[in-house]
Amino acid sequence: MLTAINQSHQVIIAAAADRQTLYYCPGCRTKVILRRGQRVVAHFAHQSGSHCAVSSEPESQQHLTGKWQMAHYFGEDRVELEPYLKTIRQRPDLIVTQAKGQVPIEFQCSAISPEKLTSRNAGYQQLALKPVWVLGNQYYQHMTRQVQVAPFVTWSAAWGWYLLFWRTATATMELWCQIQTDLLGTIGYQRYRLLGAGQYEFIENKAIRATTWQVNQLRQQIVHGLRYRTPKYMQWQNFCYSHHRLLQTIPTSVLISQSSCRFLVTQSLFFATVY
Ligand SMILES: [Zn+2]
Repeated sequence: MLTAINQSHQVIIAAAADRQTLYYCPGCRTKVILRRGQRVVAHFAHQSGSHCAVSSEPESQQHLTGKWQMAHYFGEDRVELEPYLKTIRQRPDLIVTQAKGQVPIEFQCSAISPEKLTSRNAGYQQLALKPVWVLGNQYYQHMTRQVQVAPFVTWSAAWGWYLLFWRTATATMELWCQIQTDLLGTIGYQRYRLLGAGQYEFIENKAIRATTWQVNQLRQQIVHGLRYRTPKYMQWQNFCYSHHRLLQTIPTSVLISQSSCRFLVTQSLFFATVY
């Protein structure tokens, strides 16, 4: 973490801390260690063996660096670094104050369990806050499937379904918007660099290109799924039946058609949009 509290309960930034003073975690109130050197971003760390429910450690350099960079990106005067929200016992990486209110920013670099993600979001909801999840390198490099996108995807009228990524190497925010998927679960989207103050720069359009091999794979999964009565495919089949059709004979154009609705509606409903 980039901040800790001193004995007078003042919030101190690690870069401005001194080695003689004692510092504490604002969450669990245990003593924390100041880490500062040539190669590391100045930060505080819990002593080994401590069990802090509020801060997730060990923190990577990417996470520490990204937080600093984002504080600058959003404007230091509008950002609170790692504020401890006592009532929900959570500590977002940043809180940005905007005209519309406060927005907690979670910079997610490592894997997170669905339970933890749900409970964090529920915490913010208790305070009527809508968090923004900004994803790190690991997500950026491996995000290719609908199932990976689904936990973090957000809807806006202007951007459709979108994701945000912070690129520590360039200190830039990247937006993947108008995300669509096909029935194979592959994703397509448009990439933009967000320059701040409402300015953006188009990077590229990533179209979904399903290969014949992928289509054949899905057809095999359908046959297999129907044989073993897998709920997902049974649901698809029931939908087809109700429209006097057969899942096995569904045209390839339907399998590879793109839709942005699939994040939103149930399996059988989203079929309705294309078949
Ligand atoms: Zn702690």
